[in-house]
Amino acid sequence: MNHFRRIGALRRKITRAGLSGILVTHLPDLRYLSGFTGSSAALAVTSRAARLFTDGRYTAQAADEVEAAKVEIVPGSPAVSAVQWLAAQPGATMAGFDPAWTTVSELARLKAALPAHLRRSFLAALPASLVEQLRRVKDEDEIAIMVEAALVGCKLFEHIVGFIRPGLREIEVAAELEYQARLMGAEAMSFETIVASGVRSAFPHGRATASLLPRKGFLTLDFGVILKGYCSDMTRTVYLGKPGKEERNTYNSVLEAQQAGVAAVASGITCAEVDEAARSILRRDGLAEAFSHSTGHGVGLEIHEPPTVGLNGSSLVAGDVVAIEPGLYRTGFGGCRLEDTVHITTDGFERLTTFPYGLG
Ligand code: ZN
Ligand code: ZN
Repeated sequence: MNHFRRIGALRRKITRAGLSGILVTHLPDLRYLSGFTGSSAALAVTSRAARLFTDGRYTAQAADEVEAAKVEIVPGSPAVSAVQWLAAQPGATMAGFDPAWTTVSELARLKAALPAHLRRSFLAALPASLVEQLRRVKDEDEIAIMVEAALVGCKLFEHIVGFIRPGLREIEVAAELEYQARLMGAEAMSFETIVASGVRSAFPHGRATASLLPRKGFLTLDFGVILKGYCSDMTRTVYLGKPGKEERNTYNSVLEAQQAGVAAVASGITCAEVDEAARSILRRDGLAEAFSHSTGHGVGLEIHEPPTVGLNGSSLVAGDVVAIEPGLYRTGFGGCRLEDTVHITTDGFERLTTFPYGLG
């Protein structure tokens, strides 16, 4: 069972880090480790035991979802109960917490709930999230779900390409897409659907508005679905009407950059090398300034998770799933972006999003 294995792997990390326990409060981490999908809980893990604290709304749900940890229903803050439980374990010396997901006020509250002699030293901010390292390496079951989610994304693109026509509002396109996504089994969209048409295609994050699709112009569609907790992510840009030379050149530069980025992906390659593979194509074409974001990001239980495929020295590892998405954004002209989600394997990569490219 995956959750027992994941908590086991976390235990080994806890021991290696010299901690007696760890507090997990970030909900995607909690879901990954225990299977719990509720909105309020904390998980405490020591080298011997794991306990999930939640409130009375989740009594039945937690019993149904959680096998790898003992569940305790508490009236107040689950995180406070979790910390008190960690401090009460035999031999408890120091428990780690993830500073990225703990507010200053929450930390003060947790410390105040500890016995006086433990307040100063018991809670230790982890320099790097131990759960994040585990989550990056997707197992077979996770990849199977992500393949399925990517396939739903591709089917949605196929549907929406047949639906779009000049004169529709961008939000009508988003509505149709999201309705069909639900019918195909999506629990939710991974993020707010991007439908950016005409001059608005120059907005990298152009969420659907009441603007009408023009007779002539780029149309960028970027969306994803959530299946069994896992996100899909894919972008295609098409052209409404007949593209001119400059439009075709812009598109072809992005396509070449995107393909170069994907081709560079491999276990052991740094994020900066992948970023450079894509960016250097746009630089060659004199367009690098119009590429205003990093080349990509990890995808999983969250739509944006480590690694950031940008100017950093961290290396890709087998099991990473990353989205590669260069784009060009030219104010007043328009823009385009192409994005695929790629699974890194021990001997290369597998593209999860297989929908074809083309200006339409
Ligand atoms: Zn996207
Ligand atoms: Zn993305």
